[in-house]
Amino acid sequence: MFKFSKKCAYNTLKANNISEFPIPIYAIEQIIIDHDFDIVIIPTLRKSCVFDQTLFVANLPDTEFRISLAHELGHILLHDFFIHSSRSEAQANAFAAYFLMPPGMFEKDLEQLNEWELSEKYGVPVEYVIKRAALITEPRNKEMRLF
Ligand SMILES: [Zn+2]
Repeated sequence: MFKFSKKCAYNTLKANNISEFPIPIYAIEQIIIDHDFDIVIIPTLRKSCVFDQTLFVANLPDTEFRISLAHELGHILLHDFFIHSSRSEAQANAFAAYFLMPPGMFEKDLEQLNEWELSEKYGVPVEYVIKRAALITEPRNKEMRLF
């Protein structure tokens, strides 16, 4: 469930008036910039990271790039950057999943669209759609295993 990640994702979508899906990459970048972070794309980087107020991201295909930005936004909103644990990684992953596939909207779509259609609509890989769907049913004590 990741209640707090879910709530934070929902509030962030609302506060930024996001209603277009897939969420445009520039819209996610703008929220990050609004939180006083710079974004630097480094083609040779294998994994995104944050140093000081700068977010360094790898040059990834759009679907992966979207997830990567949303994950880092999760850290910015949820965490103190100096603490990195598997728990905070899982929380940032859950934030990203809820942010890119919003609570309520995704659950409704799940009744009518298959995973390929959902992948298309939300601009994320199919495996990621499946993880997001699992968040709905996973009991609290097992949620960490999802990510
Ligand atoms: Zn992380």
